[in-house]
Amino acid sequence: MKLDAKAIRYLTSEDFRVLQGVEAGSRNHEVVPTPLISQLSGLRGGSGVHRAISNLAKINLIAKVKNAKYDGYRLTYGGLDYLALNAHQKQKVVYSVGNQIGVGKESDIVVVADSSGAQRILKIHRLGRISFRTVKTNRDYLRHRNTGSWMYMSRLAAMKEFAFMKALRENGFSVPEPIAQNRHTIVMGLIDAFPLRQISKVPHPASLYSELMEIILELARFGLIHGDFNEFNILIKEIADPSGKGKAPADAEADESDENVRLEPVIIDFPQMVSIDHANAEMYFDRDVNCIKRYFQRKFHFVSDAPGPFFSDARKNFLRNPGKRLDVEVEASGFSRKMARELENYMKEVGVDGDAGAPRDDLEDEEEDDDEEEESGSEEEEEAEEEEQPEQSSTDVDESSKRLEALH
Ligand code: ADP
Ligand code: MG
Repeated sequence: MKLDAKAIRYLTSEDFRVLQGVEAGSRNHEVVPTPLISQLSGLRGGSGVHRAISNLAKINLIAKVKNAKYDGYRLTYGGLDYLALNAHQKQKVVYSVGNQIGVGKESDIVVVADSSGAQRILKIHRLGRISFRTVKTNRDYLRHRNTGSWMYMSRLAAMKEFAFMKALRENGFSVPEPIAQNRHTIVMGLIDAFPLRQISKVPHPASLYSELMEIILELARFGLIHGDFNEFNILIKEIADPSGKGKAPADAEADESDENVRLEPVIIDFPQMVSIDHANAEMYFDRDVNCIKRYFQRKFHFVSDAPGPFFSDARKNFLRNPGKRLDVEVEASGFSRKMARELENYMKEVGVDGDAGAPRDDLEDEEEDDDEEEESGSEEEEEAEEEEQPEQSSTDVDESSKRLEALH
C-alpha cells in the first residue's frame, strides 16, 4: 500500500467533514452507519453527505461494508493517511511528499519536505498489516475485534515511538529529531545515512562494535532496552574528521581513504522499547546484544574478546550510576503504562517481532564474499508489499512520484 499524496488536493470541505465523521464513528463502530456519518459530520441535508460519501469511496478513503444488519462505511488506511497528512500540512510540518523509501513489515517510510524544501521522514505505522494475511489464527482473532483496533494500535505505536525519540534526543542519544506526531504517523528529521545492513565494509569493526555495546549499556543506564537493536535500525553516518580524532588505536593500520571518516551510529525504530524493569528485560537485553554480536561475526568476521555485556552488569551500573529514568519520563509524557501494556499485548497477539524476525538467510552468502556490493534488500520487501491486502483494506493507490509533490 502506498501513500496517496494526490488525493489530498481534491477534497471539498464537505468531503473532509464527512471523512472526519467516518473516523469519529469508527472509534466504536465496526461499520459506521450512514445516518451516523451524517450526524457526526455536522452537515445539514442528506444529498451533500451522500455525494461526499460517494466521492470518498471512489478514491478509497472510505470503503462500503455490508453488515448483516445494515450497510455502512469504514475508514481505510488511505483515509487515515489523508487525515494525518492533512493535519501535518495544517501545522506546517509537511508541505510536500516525495518517494517512499521503505516498506517495513509494520510501517511505510516516506520522504517529505517542509515549505523551505528541507527533507524529513514521515513514518506511517501500519500495525497488523502483515499479520492480517499471514497467520490464520491472528486473522480469526482480529476478525472478532473492532475495526478501530488497527488504527488505535498504530496510533499507540506512533505515540510510543515519538515519546521515546523525544526523551532520547533530549538526553543526548543519537536519534533523529522528533518533529511531530499525528494519529498513526510521526515526522522526524532525515538522517543522511545507510543502515548498517547496507554497509559492506567498516574500517574498524572493533570500535564500531564497542560503540554499539556502549549505546546498549547507556540506554540501560537510562532505564531502557531498545528491544529491536539490529543492523536495520542502526544508521551509520559518515562524518568527515580531518583531525583524525576519534580514531581507535587500531586505526593505525587503516587505509588512507578511511582515515578521515568517523562513523556515527544513529539509532531508530522505537515501538518495541521496554523498561529495564520489564518482566522480560533480560531476554530483550540479551537479544539486542546477541543481534550485534552475531551480525559482526557473520558480516565483518569480527568476534570480541570481551564477553557480554551482561544484563546483570547493566543493571548494576544502572543502580550505581543511574541516568534520568526515561522509562518513567515517557509514562509521564502521556504514553501511559496502560497504553504500553495494550500495545505490547497486541503486538504479541498479532506476532509483531520487529526487524529481529526479518529473513537473514542472504547473510550466509556474504560470508563467502563480503566485498560484494550489497543491494538495498528492498526487493524482497517490495514483494511482500505486492501480496494481497488485508481483507479490511481496499486502499491500494499506486502513487510513487519521483519528485516531491506539493500537497496543494
Ligand atoms: P520499521 O519499524 O518498519 O522497521 P524503521 O523506523 O526501522 O521502520 O525504518 C525503516 C527504514 O527506513 C530504516 O531501516 C531506514 O533505512 C529508513 N529510515 C527510517 N527512519 C529514517 C530516518 N529518520 N532517516 C533516514 N532513513 C530512515
Ligand atoms: Mg526497523
